[in-house]
Amino acid sequence: MRTQVAIIGAGPSGLLLGQLLHKHGIDNVILERQTGEYVLERVRAGVIEQVTMDLLDEAGVGVRMHEDGLLHEGVQICVNGVRHRISFKDMTGKSVMVYGQTEITKDLMDGRAAVGAPTIYAAYDVSLHGILSDTPHVTFRADGKVQQIECDFIAGCDGFHGVSRKSAPHAAIVTHERVYPLGWLGILTDTPPVSEELIYVRHPLGFALCSMRTPTRSRYYLQCSLAEDIESWPDERFWEELKPRLDEEARDRLVTGPSIEKSIAPLRSFVAEPMRFGRLFLAGDAAHIVPPTGAKGLNLAASDVRYLSQALIEYYAEKSEAGLKHYSDRALARIWKAERFSWWMTMLLHRISEDPFDQKIQLAELDYLFRSKAAATVFAENYVGLPY
Ligand SMILES: Cc1cc2nc3c(=O)[nH]c(=O)nc-3n(C[C@H](O)[C@H](O)[C@H](O)COP(=O)(O)OP(=O)(O)OC[C@H]3O[C@@H](n4cnc5c(N)ncnc54)[C@H](O)[C@@H]3O)c2cc1C
Repeated sequence: MRTQVAIIGAGPSGLLLGQLLHKHGIDNVILERQTGEYVLERVRAGVIEQVTMDLLDEAGVGVRMHEDGLLHEGVQICVNGVRHRISFKDMTGKSVMVYGQTEITKDLMDGRAAVGAPTIYAAYDVSLHGILSDTPHVTFRADGKVQQIECDFIAGCDGFHGVSRKSAPHAAIVTHERVYPLGWLGILTDTPPVSEELIYVRHPLGFALCSMRTPTRSRYYLQCSLAEDIESWPDERFWEELKPRLDEEARDRLVTGPSIEKSIAPLRSFVAEPMRFGRLFLAGDAAHIVPPTGAKGLNLAASDVRYLSQALIEYYAEKSEAGLKHYSDRALARIWKAERFSWWMTMLLHRISEDPFDQKIQLAELDYLFRSKAAATVFAENYVGLPY
């Protein structure tokens, strides 16, 4: 088999890259180790920046997002039982869209199926070869046979645990990591959200987030320890832990119900530099992770794909390598800003330190955020997404 770009991973970054390249006549094959059904069931991101919406539109898969997504013009932050609102619209003129990652994945998969571009699901033992040569290729096992794809470039879009980053020459890669001593316990329920906007909660009992997917489907998170066993969290316990962290109005409006999904996600900041090794380019979670507090992971995956797709389109149209040469630096400049914002929001809202000094500093910083128009503007600019 031969293609121009072999894409490893059919998460949002791999599927979006494939769609944008296909629109410009660039052949690509996606190799995904899971089944399509499995990929579709992973409940993750839900907040989409304007620039990500624009890219989904450019890829021709934004129709359902505009019909079913919920535009949010602000966000609420509840500190010790008192709620404050930050208006994105007033501060930046922009909004974010609440639209689930599962729906985006479905739209991208449908878009790919509609144009007949190939995705090989259940592709095992994917292995990258010759990335520093002009003739890279990928081998894998599917349908009981070992197969090979020759290509011009390999896009490593296979997430944090994928094979692509591990295939880069060890001496050429530098990693930066911060592991937080906590996780998010999340549940999805078919109950109406407690508020029309997201509520981030800072409380002495720990962080909580009231989010949603649709007007009838809610997503709630609680800060938990990394040692937590999901089996010890029946739904009743989740609701009992959430209620005291909310303000009175939210508590009154809270509709509880059985969870339809429940999971624990550890919080981590991670960046691998650079993002190019010869003919291999990393994009999305394969190169970086942010704690979900700032809602940046999927949006960063999309911005990497924007830079990478433009560079590859330029390469094939004009035989220019300029975009490919600058890809890593351009992507990393944006990534580090999102890393900073996600780290800052995490430190601001979670109960991380038991030291009263740290807790007083947290409260002083929040007070400044609510009183200072400049601070609120910086927050809003980062949350809705910095311009390219
Ligand atoms: C609880 C939670 C909440 C979040 N909330 C938000 C939010 O509100 N906003 C936001 O922007 N982001 C959010 N994120 C982050 C977001 O979900 C990720 O950043 C996003 O999924 C990254 O997409 P990706 O395609 O790069 O990687 P992934 O989604 O991880 O996809 C990688 C794909 O590669 C496949 N793969 C892995 N290894 C191999 C292999 N060896 N061979 C072939 N295929 C392989 C995987 O099966 C997977 O399908 C959240 C994450 C979590 C956990």
